[in-house]
Order: sequence, then C-alpha cells, then structure tokens
Amino acid sequence: MLPKIKVFSWRVGHEILHTYKKISLCQQNFVVKCPRCEAKEETFIHALKDCPSARAILTFGGLDNQLIKGNYSWCIDWLEDILRVMDLKAAADFFTLLWNYWNSRNNFIFNGKEDDARGVWERAKNLSRDFRIHNLVYMLVIPAASIHKTWIKSLKGFIKINFVAALSNTMMGFGVIARDEDGFAISGSSGYKDCSLQAE
Ligand SMILES: [Zn+2]
Repeated sequence: MLPKIKVFSWRVGHEILHTYKKISLCQQNFVVKCPRCEAKEETFIHALKDCPSARAILTFGGLDNQLIKGNYSWCIDWLEDILRVMDLKAAADFFTLLWNYWNSRNNFIFNGKEDDARGVWERAKNLSRDFRIHNLVYMLVIPAASIHKTWIKSLKGFIKINFVAALSNTMMGFGVIARDEDGFAISGSSGYKDCSLQAE
C-alpha cells in the first residue's frame, strides 16, 4: 500500500478527516448537512459509507453487501468488521478505493466536479496495480541492509537457555530449550495458557 494511503487509513480509523460534522465542532454556525446528498449531518460514517455516492463506489469495489448496509456509529467498528473478512491484498485495495473516493469528495466540494463511481473505482484499481508492479520490478534505491542472525554456542561449561513466547488477545504460548556448549539440546519444553498477558 502507498505510504500516503497507509496514513489515510490510520486517519480514517481515528476519524481525523475534515467532515462537515467535524468542522462544525470548532466553527460556530457551520452547516453540517452532507454537501452531496443533503443528509442531516455529514458524519464520518456517512461521508465514507452511508452517503449514496460512497455506496456507489464501494459497490463497484465489490464490498460485501452486509458491510455496506450494516449500521455503524464509528468508522473503526466498520473497519474492524471489514478487516476480519479481507486478506492483506484486498485490504490494500479497499483503502486505495476509499482514499480515491475521499479525493473525489474533496474535488466535488472545492471544485464542484462530480466524478462518476466507475471512474473513481478505475483510478483506484490502476493505482493499486501500478504500485504493485513498480515494487516488484524496480530495485530499491537504498537496498535493505542484510542482518545475519544465528544461534551462538555458549561458553565452555555453560548451558544456554532460549525462551520464546507469543501472545494473542486471550491466550499465550511459549517454548524453551536448553543447549550445552556443543549445541546439543539437553532439555526443552513448551506450553500454552488461556489467559491475557502483556508482552512485558
Ligand atoms: Zn451524503
């Protein structure tokens, strides 16, 4: 995903974009009506999902009907439901589409130009494709430094113990292995717990 679209997706999750509703919170007597469909308030979820022009574009993007029609108050809840059913590539395409839609909404407000839904969708599709091709074909300008990591034997007469743990919301798993100075495994163990823990 393009870095600027990553930033955009973060802003959507935190509702940091200038919708009319948002502007009205810091500017007195600002009209909060949706500039495109005249709905009572241009809230975040309205601007990005419920406004008919947003829906037309999301439908072109092939978003599941449930995810378009579902009732949400906050963008983050909507995004979470979407990300539960999308893989990384589909999610990158979705945010690219949303970013293009947001630009077309701004284009309408500032320049009075109304883009058609197919045009916005086509632009998003091309942008995703070009970005992917570009990243596959071209060498990095600054190549990533390769870091060589390997297990190092313990000193003579010492035993080395390695421990690793993985956490998710409600469970944790861990593994431990003890090796001598020659790298032979002396003992090992692993475990699993149903509990929520912090990484520390
Ligand atoms: Zn609207």
